[in-house]
Amino acid sequence: MPAYPAVKARLQGLETVAWLGQLFGSPRVSLLKGIVPDGQVPAYAIDAPGLFDRPGSPYLAPGGVDWADNAIRFGLLSWAAAQIARGLLDPDWRAEICQAHDWHAGLVPAYLAFADDERPKPASILTIHNLAFQGLFAPDAVGPLGLPPSAFHPGGFEFWGKLSFMKAGLVYADRVTTVSPGYAREIATVEYGCGLEGVIAGRGGDVRGILNGVDEGVWDPATDPNLPAHYEAGDLAPRAEDRAALLAEFGLEPPAGPLFGVVSRLTHQKGLDLLLDALPSLLARGGALALLGSEDPVLEAGFLAAARVHPGRIGVRIGYDDRLSRRIFAGSDAILVPSRFEPCGLTQLYALRYGAVPVVRRTGGLGDTVADATPEAIAAGTATGFLFDAATASDLAGALDRASAAYRDPVLWRKLQAAGMACRFSWDVAAASYAELYAELSPPSAAAPPASRSKSGSRRRPPA
Ligand code: ADP
Repeated sequence: MPAYPAVKARLQGLETVAWLGQLFGSPRVSLLKGIVPDGQVPAYAIDAPGLFDRPGSPYLAPGGVDWADNAIRFGLLSWAAAQIARGLLDPDWRAEICQAHDWHAGLVPAYLAFADDERPKPASILTIHNLAFQGLFAPDAVGPLGLPPSAFHPGGFEFWGKLSFMKAGLVYADRVTTVSPGYAREIATVEYGCGLEGVIAGRGGDVRGILNGVDEGVWDPATDPNLPAHYEAGDLAPRAEDRAALLAEFGLEPPAGPLFGVVSRLTHQKGLDLLLDALPSLLARGGALALLGSEDPVLEAGFLAAARVHPGRIGVRIGYDDRLSRRIFAGSDAILVPSRFEPCGLTQLYALRYGAVPVVRRTGGLGDTVADATPEAIAAGTATGFLFDAATASDLAGALDRASAAYRDPVLWRKLQAAGMACRFSWDVAAASYAELYAELSPPSAAAPPASRSKSGSRRRPPA
C-alpha cells in the first residue's frame, strides 16, 4: 500500500525494511512493514512523504480532479510491489504469485516482465474491478517510470498515444481476473470493453471471472448492531420495526406500495438518472423512496428537488454513511441498482442478505447474483428479484411495475425474500476459486524459497 498517513497510523509494529533514497524524483523513499490489526496480516507500505501525505482522497485532489502526478504515485507503488515480490527489498520474503488490482497496480506485471536479470520471477495476475478507470498518462511518463520506450506501441502498454497502466497489466500479466463471470464475458465486447475489448478477447481463456464475496459475519441482520430490530430468515416479523424506523428517519409516510431503497455512488455508471426519469412510475404505483448517496452534483440536485416536490414520498440523504446504509438494507422492501455496467456490485448482495428484494439491471455481477421473478422461477422457489434489460427509464419502470405488483401479494413477497436470504455469496466460495487459479500458476513443486540479498548494489533501481 502507499503509506498514506492513515495507513501508517493503523499498521502495528511499523519498522523500516529498506531505505531507498530518491526514486522517481521523490526523495527519502523507504519501505515499511507492519501488521494490519484486523486479521494480523503482514503488510508493506511504500513511504514517500511528498507523494502520499496529502489532503484529499487517495486518487483525487481536494477539488475532485486527479492528482497531476498519479503516474509517479502509482508507478512507484507498482515498482515497489514488483521489487518486493522478487525478494529484492526485504531479504526475508518473496512472492510466488503477485496479484495486482486495477490500474493503480497495473504496472506490476510490466515491471516483472521487463526485469532483465536471472532472478526468478513470480507469476502475475491482474484483477479488474472497474475497466472504466484505466490510468492513462502522457507518453513522457514512460522514461521517468523506468519503462522501456521500445514497448510503447499498440502491442505493449500504449493506448491511442498514451501510456495505459491498465493495458500494461492486461498485456503482461500471466492471468487476468475480474469480479464476476458476467463482467468477464462483457469486457471482451465493444459495449463494455472501454476500447480494450480486443486485448481482452485476445487473452482468451486467461481471463476469468471470480465473484466477490460478502463478509457474512459483518453483514448479518441477526446481529448487526446498527439495526433497531434483529431478524433472521425464519422470522421476518421484527423487520417491520426496521421498516417503520427507516420511514421515520427519512420523514416518509407509510406507502401503499413498496418502500424502495438506494445506497449508491450517484454516477452515470449506476444509472440513477434512469431512476430520476422513472420516479413518476414508482410513485404512481404507491411506492416510496429512501435514497442515500453522493457524487455527481447534477444527480444530487435532481434527487433533492424530487424530495422537495414529493415530501413524505421521497427522502434523500446526500453523503456516505455506513450505519444508515445498513438500516436502508434492513428497512426497505426493495433495493434499486439500475447500473449501466456493474463489475460485481455489493449492494445487491447486502440487500439479498437483509431481505430487501433487489430490482437490478441485467448486467455484470448483477445478472450473476439476482434471479428474475419469472413465473417458472417463482414456481421453482428460485426467484430472488426483478431484472430489466435496456438501460432506459421505461425498462426500469417496467421492473418497478412488476415489483410493485408482486408486493401486493404478501405470500409471494415473503417467498422472494426467503429465497434471497438463503443465497450464499461467502468468501469461502471465492477463496476456493482463487486457490485453484494460484495452484495453476504455482504448482506445489515450484514453491519459491526466500531470496537472499547481496550486501549492496544488486537491487535494480529505476531512474532517480
Ligand atoms: P462501487 O464499488 O462501484 O461503488 P459496489 O456495489 O461494488 O459499487 O460497492 C459499493 C459499496 O459502497 C456498497 O457496499 C455500498 O453499500 C456502499 N455505499 C455506496 N454508497 C454509499 C453511501 N453513500 N453510504 C454508505 N455506503 C455506501
